[in-house]
Amino acid sequence: MRQRKFTLEENEIPENWYNIVADMPNKPLPPLHPGTLEPIGPEALAPLFPMALIEQEVSMEKWISIPDEVRNIYGLWRPTPLYRAYGLEKALDTPAKIYYKYEGISPSGSHKPNTAVAQAYYNKKEGVKRITTETGAGQWGSALSFACQHFNIDCEVYMVKLSYNHKPYRKSMMNTWGAKVYASPTDLTEAGKKILAQDPNSPGSLGIAISEAVEAAMRDDQTKYALGSVLNHVKLHQTVIGQEAVKQMEKAGDMPDIVIAPFGGGSNFAGIAFPFLRLNFEEGKNIRCISSEPTSCPKLTRGVFKYDFGDTGGMTPLLPMYTLGHDFVPAPIHAGGLRYHGAGVIVSQLLKDKLIEAVAHDNLEVFDAGVLFAKAEGIIPAPEATHGIATVIAEANKCKEEGISRTILFNLCGHGNFDMKAYDDYFEGKIVKHELTQEQINASLAKLNTPEIP
Ligand SMILES: *Cc1c(COP(=O)(O)O)cnc(C)c1O
Repeated sequence: MRQRKFTLEENEIPENWYNIVADMPNKPLPPLHPGTLEPIGPEALAPLFPMALIEQEVSMEKWISIPDEVRNIYGLWRPTPLYRAYGLEKALDTPAKIYYKYEGISPSGSHKPNTAVAQAYYNKKEGVKRITTETGAGQWGSALSFACQHFNIDCEVYMVKLSYNHKPYRKSMMNTWGAKVYASPTDLTEAGKKILAQDPNSPGSLGIAISEAVEAAMRDDQTKYALGSVLNHVKLHQTVIGQEAVKQMEKAGDMPDIVIAPFGGGSNFAGIAFPFLRLNFEEGKNIRCISSEPTSCPKLTRGVFKYDFGDTGGMTPLLPMYTLGHDFVPAPIHAGGLRYHGAGVIVSQLLKDKLIEAVAHDNLEVFDAGVLFAKAEGIIPAPEATHGIATVIAEANKCKEEGISRTILFNLCGHGNFDMKAYDDYFEGKIVKHELTQEQINASLAKLNTPEIP
């Protein structure tokens, strides 16, 4: 029987997170205070995050050890399996060898608990009683709810209204783990009230929900805030994915030429790609790492590299990143986790330095890819994950045209079992090609009067 599944033992869960900053030729630029435009120190983040996470946010250490308590909880679902996608290869009739790392076996169904557990752990250690957060598709809110109940921390989730209405069972899931869930924009915060006054029917966005969750954390000193992507410490925690995948590819007697992952804020992409980029830095390998974003929210492929706020309300520090402008409200596509105007600082710098690549796929193309994958491999991918699959298919088709076999690895970062409304819409022909005009992008960028990057 041919080997399809490559697994690791429980004691092979990584013992350290890999901090790519240590290896980057150009280090990320510092965050700026929005008032003074001076670089901010770590202490400026103290009202929002526990000190241990702030230290990780600015750390230059290459390896950061994973606490035993965190590894023990990881053991509920890690190490995750890596599969050879024979079914997909056959369906595409490609000479490419395709592998995928499957993060959907976590309790909440995506890669998000890798950082949620770590964040809840450090908050608990510093005596935090409550954590507020935002969630788009519901994946992050579920992961944090799961993690918080492990450590007896209250969890309050501002869920983008569009997803709240599309995915009622995500809310039930968060409630099961003891969290409170609000449809954002709410009238519970000033940021939410402001948006509702402008547009009572606002579908919400991640940027708006972040403003609400940050505000709620700021007004109570027992409460902190947690972010499910974008920040350096989140990307750091996700590197368990790629470290396992490197070992599993070795077990398969193979190494990827191309590593692919969908891109929202950059954490699952970082998670799988950074440990392979380490091989590029250390061993001179030439592994291409490609991020896949929606054409409806194309910050990497059509945005600008500039200082911008992480949220719509302009409450966060200014971060140097690829952005469409913090006012940009993406079209209500089903891949809620990819509806974010900006990109993480580290991945932005890597893209600027051409050490990684970015591509974009249309909303319709990704569902074609998702259904093809589900038929070929069984697992129904999350709408976010289908973007990565569309890139895999494009690369596998290139291999076929060129008559070359390449090894492709992608991160199947979550299943779509709570996203069947999205698939129904696709089958009913309700998902249409969505074009974003240059005028729309320019209009959003024109409002961005934040500092240029020299
Ligand atoms: C959150 C999420 C994403 C996007 O966020 P990243 O930080 O870019 O990973 C992608 N896929 C799934 C399944 C998600 O839950």
